[in-house]
Amino acid sequence: MKAFAYVNATNEKEALAALAKAERGRTVPMGGGMDLLGLAKDYILSPEKIVSIRNLDQTIASADGGLRIGAATKIVDLVEHAQARKLYPALITAAEDVGTPQIRNVGTVGGNIMQRPRCWYFRNEEFNCLKKGGSRCFAVEGENQYHAIFGDGPCHIVHPSSLAVPVIAYGGRFRVAGPNGAREIDAGQFFQMPNQNLYGESVLQPDEIVTHVLLPAPGQRSATYEVRFKQSHDWPLAAASVNLVMSGPAVKSARIVMGAVAPIPWRVPAAERVLAGKAITEAVAAEAATAAVAGARPMSGNAYKIQIAKTAVKRAILAASRG
Ligand SMILES: Cc1cc2nc3c(=O)[nH]c(=O)nc-3n(C[C@H](O)[C@H](O)[C@H](O)COP(=O)(O)OP(=O)(O)OC[C@H]3O[C@@H](n4cnc5c(N)ncnc54)[C@H](O)[C@@H]3O)c2cc1C
Repeated sequence: MKAFAYVNATNEKEALAALAKAERGRTVPMGGGMDLLGLAKDYILSPEKIVSIRNLDQTIASADGGLRIGAATKIVDLVEHAQARKLYPALITAAEDVGTPQIRNVGTVGGNIMQRPRCWYFRNEEFNCLKKGGSRCFAVEGENQYHAIFGDGPCHIVHPSSLAVPVIAYGGRFRVAGPNGAREIDAGQFFQMPNQNLYGESVLQPDEIVTHVLLPAPGQRSATYEVRFKQSHDWPLAAASVNLVMSGPAVKSARIVMGAVAPIPWRVPAAERVLAGKAITEAVAAEAATAAVAGARPMSGNAYKIQIAKTAVKRAILAASRG
């Protein structure tokens, strides 16, 4: 790993001062360092200055009828938070399945949301892929079994954060702080497709940090369902989070977001429309799941993910309907 300067910020002001005029990849914030230090050790990123923000707000508190989660909160503390468990089961299911206990003990909520893609070409210094300034995406003609089935490239990564998927299903927002003050961004507008931003994955600027996740009051029913190659120590092959607002036995409105299938968490309005006005049955859930994957365009080695994503959506809807 290349040597770097280290700043241990104790509050937001110090963090922003240390990140002032930061250039992408040169001066970077760090939560638990689980992802960042791996990238640095593999020479995918060689920062000159790392600004630790793990001592910023780590509290989870009620706010505006919902929840305000400090970005420095460890994933384990989110998993164990009684109010979050009761009100936001889709988020907690996703959080308690992240990696391993060691990863959840160190990884922060902000770092999880901002972690970089797991694409093995991006993560290998031998491959100068599109995302690193090269001229092609090696997944197109290479090993693409874990890559995107939505999005049409030109880079075919899948979004890696398990937490971002339910946050968008709940209609959450991110509080972002930077040199010009703080702003709140709809989580559904935060992540960017490769054709909007090839070298990053979100609207966040290098001199900004995510300080909080803001969740509105949840719908009455919500759930996450993830399908994994193995149950621990891995990212999902496909996932879905569902948040339902009910009117008696029928769905008034639904938000359905798929994970690990596209470069961003993939919201599926066509599937949401299938649920609106209906009571949930196995057949209705199956119809919505079919609608969710209707636009999938698999690569040479990942068509199997369509069925897995479909199953994840159907089971998330059924799990949510059971309350
Ligand atoms: C074996 C294994 C299995 C895993 N399985 C899963 C899984 O199933 N699901 C899943 O979601 N993740 C999984 N992970 C990833 C893991 O959860 C993340 O690496 C971890 O959550 C990152 O958190 P961190 O605080 O350590 O981030 P860091 O490594 O500190 O930061 C990650 C990135 O985010 C940036 N960053 C950090 N905090 C902020 C902030 N507040 N504002 C702006 N930018 C910020 C950093 O600059 C860096 O680029 C797995 C990891 C491993 C090793």
